[in-house]
Amino acid sequence: MELKFKDFKLDDKIFEGLDAMGFEKPTPIQQQAIPLILEGKDLIGIAQTGTGKTAAYLLPVMSRLLSNPVQDNQIGALIIAPTRELALQIDTAFQGFAYFAGLSSAAIYGGGDGAGFDVQKKALTSGTDVIIATPGKLISHLNLGYVKVQQLQTLILDEADKMLDMGFMDDINKIISALPKERQTLLFSATMPPRIRELSAQVLNNPEQINIAISQPAAGIFQGAFMVHDMQKVKLIKHLLQSKPLKSVIVFCSKKSEVKEIEKELQGLSLKVQSMHSDLEQTERENVMSNFRNRTTNVLVATDIVSRGIDIDGIELVINYNLPSDAEDYIHRIGRTSRGSNSGGVAFTFVNPKELGNFHKIESLIEREIKKIKLPDSLGEGPAYITMEDYKKMPRTGPSRNFKGGGKGRPPRNNKR
Ligand code: AMP
Repeated sequence: MELKFKDFKLDDKIFEGLDAMGFEKPTPIQQQAIPLILEGKDLIGIAQTGTGKTAAYLLPVMSRLLSNPVQDNQIGALIIAPTRELALQIDTAFQGFAYFAGLSSAAIYGGGDGAGFDVQKKALTSGTDVIIATPGKLISHLNLGYVKVQQLQTLILDEADKMLDMGFMDDINKIISALPKERQTLLFSATMPPRIRELSAQVLNNPEQINIAISQPAAGIFQGAFMVHDMQKVKLIKHLLQSKPLKSVIVFCSKKSEVKEIEKELQGLSLKVQSMHSDLEQTERENVMSNFRNRTTNVLVATDIVSRGIDIDGIELVINYNLPSDAEDYIHRIGRTSRGSNSGGVAFTFVNPKELGNFHKIESLIEREIKKIKLPDSLGEGPAYITMEDYKKMPRTGPSRNFKGGGKGRPPRNNKR
């Protein structure tokens, strides 16, 4: 029997919020997580963004705060997220549900000015039901000793794997040591590497586990790959962007320096281009995202900072200018083009000969072949494609680590991620 939201013992005010948001049926993670969280259990949720995991924890946590309110100057629940963008997105989702519930929230993240810090300090001292914070900034406030967490009921670690990848392990431990031991803890992660198991064993108490990890991109996305030499990439990207009128495209690069370079290269085209990377100030980042959201900008050139969790509808095309170092990030990246009701997006990936090993890892992970597309004639010959079987048979030793095109060279010896 399929559960409906009405089957959960959520507070009536939460149902009003759900109606206002137009949510009718709970997603699989919501069906499994909501009853467990309402019971007060600790939980490990293996789930990616796009599964509805934010509402899966926000709704029951809010409901519990309504039935068991904290004192006026205290924080009721704390959500830790890896990036400012995700923190803001969670806060926006919270505001949507909380409209009728009368619960308050504040997002605490770095990059703002001194005035922002004072506003955050006020939220942390004057009592805010739910705080959504990035680890570093929260630590700065915790160190100053005024954060009111004595009555904290629930701690949520969202995208825990990403936080560990970003080096936040120590910060997370510091934050947890400042919280009451008697609390509910929920940990969400897209993957379950050993470090996440260790963290879960340390901070969760007899947790339930639910697993919604799909490791599969949405079915509606057309996935294609071009075998290219590095020097052909800029021409190819220009060709793709000019051959069709496009309103909303994300180009992913692995490095900040590349992002800046590609942004410059694309400035001459008729499309509006902006870039997103960690060198930007918070207000700049917000402007870039808002311009992209409202289509003032057509092309967003970005690092993996926007590969997860950013929820923008109607992105027509994702271009992977190079491969992500982590195969899972490929799924996150291309998932940007099939958010919500929007299906039928396109994802093109540029693969140079050195990236073939990682490319095959992606094909193994998604358990399907990505269509290889011939380069346009104007770009000349690209390197030869080597199938996974042939690639595996190739010798891994020898003088050439620099795998040249045409099938004559050797793959790099160390093609580990
Ligand atoms: P998330 O995985 O939390 O990032 O959610 C992905 C998207 O799905 C967001 O745009 C949510 O607003 C939307 N969403 C989550 N749960 C539901 C639901 N039960 N019904 C409709 N939309 C939902």
